Amino acid sequence: MEQHSDPREAHAASASTANRQHGVVSLIDYVWGAILLIPALTIFSSTHVRDLGAAYLLAATAVFFGLLRAILGLRVFLVLTYVPALFGVLAVGADLLRDVNLLEAALIRPDPHEAWPVIQPHAHWIALTAVLLAMPIWVLFRTPSARTGRGKWPSATLAAITFAAVTCGAVFHDTVLRAWPLNVISVAAASAIGRDDFISTALPYAPTNPRSASASWGASQLPGLHPQTETYILIIGESVRADRLGACGGQKQVGISHQDAIIYCDVTSGSSSTHTSVPLLISREMPGGAFRVSKDATFMKAFEEAGFHTYWIAVQERGIAWPDANTDMFVTIKRTDRESLLPSLRLAFAQNAPKKLIVVHTYGAHFSYCDRYEPATAAFQADCSKLSELPDDSTLPDFIRAYDNAVAESLRFVDAVISEAAQAGGSSFVMYTADHGENLLDDGRKLFQHALKDPTRWDTTVPAVMWASDEWRASNSARWERLRANHEAKAMHADLVPTLLGSAAIRYVDERRVAIDLGAMSPAADRTRWVMRRLGEKINGDQLRQAQPGRQ
Ligand SMILES: [Zn+2]
Repeated sequence: MEQHSDPREAHAASASTANRQHGVVSLIDYVWGAILLIPALTIFSSTHVRDLGAAYLLAATAVFFGLLRAILGLRVFLVLTYVPALFGVLAVGADLLRDVNLLEAALIRPDPHEAWPVIQPHAHWIALTAVLLAMPIWVLFRTPSARTGRGKWPSATLAAITFAAVTCGAVFHDTVLRAWPLNVISVAAASAIGRDDFISTALPYAPTNPRSASASWGASQLPGLHPQTETYILIIGESVRADRLGACGGQKQVGISHQDAIIYCDVTSGSSSTHTSVPLLISREMPGGAFRVSKDATFMKAFEEAGFHTYWIAVQERGIAWPDANTDMFVTIKRTDRESLLPSLRLAFAQNAPKKLIVVHTYGAHFSYCDRYEPATAAFQADCSKLSELPDDSTLPDFIRAYDNAVAESLRFVDAVISEAAQAGGSSFVMYTADHGENLLDDGRKLFQHALKDPTRWDTTVPAVMWASDEWRASNSARWERLRANHEAKAMHADLVPTLLGSAAIRYVDERRVAIDLGAMSPAADRTRWVMRRLGEKINGDQLRQAQPGRQ
């Protein structure tokens, strides 16, 4: 066997071994870093157009792992991050290969006896991944420790960066808790201690109810004479933009047949997507908050505190807004809202409660339009066979005719609710608005539908309809006149709950000054109507109206 008799040769050999080791260690360092970042770039990136900005989340992840690596030696870093790395790889794999959201699956199926049959077919792959990820740790523990030390930054710099990062984390905890791996850690911790509100911060679309049972609106009905029976109804429409209504410049066949209803044509919705707009509409918050659904109670709690029995009747799922009504009914969707919802609404009317608040969440004019109305009785002839693909300039007229039919059917449902309320007798007040509007290739961007990357004037300008029974109007004539006088005002979704509560003579606690009761005052000409751009971000809804020249 050859010996290194020459000391220089021996030195060169040991230097080359050291270089090789250094290369292996650096490779492990970079590859491990990449493995840790992959979930942040894929499954835990901003998953929804209404979620927080993707760059914020990725930055939080990079700073978190970067700081850990700068502080710790590579061996300790790998051991500490082995579980996140394994979870991250498995979660990316589950998403790519099985279309499973591992984090949400863990939330839905926490019982190991139920989870095992689902995991078992993949157990050997999971074991193999665990072993492969353990390999670099095994290699490192066979490498001299001098090569696996912590980063080269001086301690004072590290301390300063750590302090800055922890401060930022504390201030922007809504963002940080949503960033990988802090989202998983916070969800695990929240599950362990039973705090659902942390879960819904980390996962805005997780199937967990964030509302606090103890939240109060401090509400009561003003002293004075109140009618024997009172019914207030809020109908939440779907995908109806204002300008298609005859009363707002659209076709005359699209409208409310009750001539005494008041129609508002310029109402900004809180956002352009159902999942953020509906929770905002029923809240006492303004667009721009970091939470999709608030911990606060909805306005239904205020009605409840004022002595009303509250109902939520919906064709759309519970998790959109986590309603806190006394009675909820989630019904199967049929072709029209009238078919789906009127039977349940009649049940609510028939119940023996003198004071009722009823919220109805419809499916309105949601795409695909042809499925939302009866073609035989529709006002406009649309060739639905052309509507299976995205519209282009040649098929757009058919899309618009079908959309107008769907909007007309949405308003026929409102008319039907008004008729039911009138027939039931007593003092009643009905309010309708749509959760958001719709894009129909309106400008050069050729945008279609809603919940796109950025809100537009078309998917955030919605109508509102108000109707009241003779008995209600007789005792609220000044208020009714004010509501009528305001019908051309620049209104917004945030005004509607205060208007409904004001109409029921309910006083309550609300920190907002910019949201007004349209039955008591008129909006200031210079107020800003904010619209949510994405969670934590808002934009001026009136600027959307100025910036984009319309079709009309
Ligand atoms: Zn919607």
